[in-house]
Amino acid sequence: MPNATKTKTCSKCNEEHPLSKFERRLTLAQSKALLRNPNLTRRHVTISKLCRYCRQDMKSTKPLTAKQIRNKITSGDIPQLVGEQMIRDMREALPAKRAKAMKERWQKVKAQPMLQVKDSLSRQVATYARRFHSSTYLRGMTKQRNKWNYQEARRVKAELFRRLDAEGLAALEDINENTKLSTFFKPMPDSWAEI
Ligand SMILES: [Zn+2]
Repeated sequence: MPNATKTKTCSKCNEEHPLSKFERRLTLAQSKALLRNPNLTRRHVTISKLCRYCRQDMKSTKPLTAKQIRNKITSGDIPQLVGEQMIRDMREALPAKRAKAMKERWQKVKAQPMLQVKDSLSRQVATYARRFHSSTYLRGMTKQRNKWNYQEARRVKAELFRRLDAEGLAALEDINENTKLSTFFKPMPDSWAEI
């Protein structure tokens, strides 16, 4: 009678499945050990206690290491030429992988001081913006002054950002976290319009 018509209960999930769902192909090494036949060339099929679905959960999804591949070549579970090619592919992929990780790390480190400077400049503009917006109840010179300063802060920030983007790290010699936007402000002209 074919296996498909017989059923068996899984010892893990307790579900009944056709017997074929319990078939497990041993590795060649396991087959040789089980059947005590070192000259065996075909993998043996046994009936497992667990159904196929429960065994799938147990299976590791990690890629094989070079050592595991070599063991499988020795046991005959992977043909030698295929196994050797797998190891060669791994070896070739390794330096590229390492170089990529290092480049990404370096780019992050390099970008860090730049981000800090930009953050400081942006925070200064935000302070001028707050001062301007909270002075709407004021009249006259103070309000004009606050508006002018806010405008200048935005202008200077844009200018410094352009320099940072164009010159990169070299610009950090002149522009740093302590750079005060106000030192670049133009003097407010006398004729500046009343708000
Ligand atoms: Zn099961």
